[in-house]
Amino acid sequence: MGEHDVVVIGGGAAGLSAALVLSSARRGVAVVDAGNPRNAPAAHMHGYLSRDGLPPRDLLEAGRAEIVAYGGQLPTGTVSAVSGTTESGFEVLLEDGLSARRLLVATGLRDELPEVAGLWARWGRDVLHCPYCHGYEVRDQRLGVLGGSAESVAHALLIAQSTDVVYFAHTTDLSDEQNEQLVARGVGVVEGTVARVVAEDDELCGLEMADGRVVERAAMFVRPRFVPNSHLAVGLGCVVDADGWVTADNVGSTSVAGVWVAGNAANPRAQVITAAGEGSAAAIALNAELVDEDVAQQVRRHRLGVAVAGRA
Ligand SMILES: Cc1cc2nc3c(=O)[nH]c(=O)nc-3n(C[C@H](O)[C@H](O)[C@H](O)COP(=O)(O)OP(=O)(O)OC[C@H]3O[C@@H](n4cnc5c(N)ncnc54)[C@H](O)[C@@H]3O)c2cc1C
Repeated sequence: MGEHDVVVIGGGAAGLSAALVLSSARRGVAVVDAGNPRNAPAAHMHGYLSRDGLPPRDLLEAGRAEIVAYGGQLPTGTVSAVSGTTESGFEVLLEDGLSARRLLVATGLRDELPEVAGLWARWGRDVLHCPYCHGYEVRDQRLGVLGGSAESVAHALLIAQSTDVVYFAHTTDLSDEQNEQLVARGVGVVEGTVARVVAEDDELCGLEMADGRVVERAAMFVRPRFVPNSHLAVGLGCVVDADGWVTADNVGSTSVAGVWVAGNAANPRAQVITAAGEGSAAAIALNAELVDEDVAQQVRRHRLGVAVAGRA
């Protein structure tokens, strides 16, 4: 497929948004995508101005069409390895192989759920994590929040903007302060360990406790562990923080020259619109870096030409 100015790895909101800006700036861009965006299980996307309620895949399809119209390439595949530097160029391991002057890693993150039987089967439908993504859709239904992580009480206090919310203590003990906060905010507390999710006719109906009780709920909120898909950036030597997230400046430039990041690959807080914004910001800064490199090379050639003409 030849050399590109930029190869983007990951074609979610972050990667496609970067590719749109770069391809319209007349850069040669390829976006390699494995086709598994994080919000794929959700029927609708919320919180994206002017696109609220759109199926997530429709946003990406529209973005892909825009990039192709500007001449960008969209090979499908999973990149297993990358190597190189800005001096040598970067090599991207794929069936056909790709090379590029710069890399943008936009590979997203992986959600890891607590080990409760049946949670995964309902993930993104009525087992949810983000009130901004799904909260309004399930407003004032019988909601539950699964305890078990350090942030789950704060999660319950947030979800309590709905009217009927219970907190399942599950594997954690509540402090007196946490208990008081939950009670004051009108959140009921269910003591005991959760055994499994109960669903009927493809709808969640409650949680079965280890002692056999079933607590009826229409939807559950769970705080996943966010794991960055950052092994490619890390393999190139990008510095990570104490929690394993690739560090970058405010436009996505990493500690390794020529390697950029955008979206959930480096920022667990990025929503779709934020990820798209990060991709756009990275693309603009990245293009400026390429312009500087192009200008330096053109000046060298220009001076050589002037010198040769002077000797003639
Ligand atoms: C169930 C659910 C519902 C959500 N709903 C909303 C919502 O309503 N509104 C909202 O704003 N946010 C929502 N989010 C968050 C949203 O999914 C993220 O903000 C968004 O997907 C981040 O975009 P991204 O481009 O960084 O990553 P992604 O969208 O995850 O895209 C990353 C892409 O990289 C690809 N990839 C990964 N590794 C490789 C590799 N080695 N080679 C090639 N390709 C690779 C993946 O297959 C994927 O296509 C939701 C999340 C979940 C889990």
